[in-house]
Amino acid sequence: MRVLLVEDDDGVADALVAALAAGGHLPHRVARGADALLAHRDFDLLLLDLGLPDLDGLDVLRKVRKIAGVPVLVLTARGDERSTVRALRLGADDYLVKPVRSGELLARMDAVARRVARVGPTDRVVRVGDVEVDLQARRVVVGDREIPLTTKEFDVLAVLVTRAGTAVSRQQVMDEVWGDAYLAVSRSLDVHLAGVRAKLGRPGLLTTIRGFGYRFEGG
Ligand code: CA
Repeated sequence: MRVLLVEDDDGVADALVAALAAGGHLPHRVARGADALLAHRDFDLLLLDLGLPDLDGLDVLRKVRKIAGVPVLVLTARGDERSTVRALRLGADDYLVKPVRSGELLARMDAVARRVARVGPTDRVVRVGDVEVDLQARRVVVGDREIPLTTKEFDVLAVLVTRAGTAVSRQQVMDEVWGDAYLAVSRSLDVHLAGVRAKLGRPGLLTTIRGFGYRFEGG
């Protein structure tokens, strides 16, 4: 696999690059979150450190998830439950606390790749009936009409569409779109969702699951 390693510690990075190459992968290392955001499209898997010099790794993860289904394995010194839960909620495919043994890392990468191959999230365009959502181009077409969504409306829709057919909790939607500030935006989510529903004009497509969250049908 072409693996993008995002790691600011030279010693750790050198050891990981060697382990990845020995495991038959093609590793490329960057030290900054901003470089990861520029480069991630060209890779099959991201190994992402959370403590980076320019951006928090969780912010890198959130931004990558908004536009791409590339598998992300978080590799970090932060072993606390809160960081783990947040990373997984934001769409990390797995989470490993450093120091990691290279055998375990390679096995986890294989497991993530197998899961991804089954689900096929590299599909950037999701079609259900006559509704087409292009996650890369951030375009929504219903029938032959392009639907003008606001940035936040699209973000909310994208969270649900990338997990089409699966129930997604309100908290998860807010976490991914607004980050930590979600308590303040609960009302705002309702407004954006109402906007998405009205503009799509396909009432059956976004199901509300009472007391939990939402599901985008299909997938
Ligand atoms: Ca670090």
